[in-house]
Amino acid sequence: MKRLWAAALLLVPAFLCAPALAQTPSPAKPNAACDYARFRPIIDVGHTLEDSGATSARGVAEYDFNLRLSLMIERGLREGGFSKTRLLITDGSALQSLMKRVAAANKAGGDIFLSIHHDSVPEKFIEKWIFNVAEHRYSDRFRGHSMFVSRDNPQLSASIQFGKLLGKELKDRGLQYTPHYTDKIMGARMRELIDKDAGLYRFDQLVVLRMTTMPALLLEAGSIIHRDEELLMASTEQQEKIVSAVLSAVESFCAVRTPKVSTRAAGNRK
Ligand SMILES: [Zn+2]
Repeated sequence: MKRLWAAALLLVPAFLCAPALAQTPSPAKPNAACDYARFRPIIDVGHTLEDSGATSARGVAEYDFNLRLSLMIERGLREGGFSKTRLLITDGSALQSLMKRVAAANKAGGDIFLSIHHDSVPEKFIEKWIFNVAEHRYSDRFRGHSMFVSRDNPQLSASIQFGKLLGKELKDRGLQYTPHYTDKIMGARMRELIDKDAGLYRFDQLVVLRMTTMPALLLEAGSIIHRDEELLMASTEQQEKIVSAVLSAVESFCAVRTPKVSTRAAGNRK
């Protein structure tokens, strides 16, 4: 697994790596109601080295963005007190890896499963441009993050609850979700917006959301096929806003789902 990480990191372009490793997200105020030591967040790195998802407007694999941001989120959660945070990195083909990540998550028995992705657009919106003397594909049509839950997840209401919390935290940091998934122009990729404040959509078929046994959410952190948003998503400032939003949302969710038991109450339980 470590070798895979090392190999994966080698493929991350320098502009994605250098400044971010030196900085840490600002420490959040602890939530007194959350039992940090007991709560188990699982951060799932979307796609694999071999099957790397979308390609950005400048030719960078989505997997590189997902890995970079997930590593920062993992570190942010650990530094925030969630010592049982687990980073899920899988390998192989898309289908193999989906099954592997679901099996690993269910075996680990996490309290929240958050899958990290970066978005693209359907083929019909793609245009071509020249960057660094090579032709690349882009679309400046849509930008912003989006979140998805599956109605087939056995803990749908908790998944929605976490989505609402994360949506609010992202909004509080000035991030705007994209409403374009409700547009008919999206065809088969059109989705039902189930919370218009949070930017939370329904996507029942997603394997990582429907086959996981814990509350599960997929975050498309931003659109890397959009030329400006790709640069934004590669910036430490934007990444740290997302890390901070995830930490606050996990803390609030933990306070409700895994509340801290007072010493006296814990003693009485024995
Ligand atoms: Zn993806």
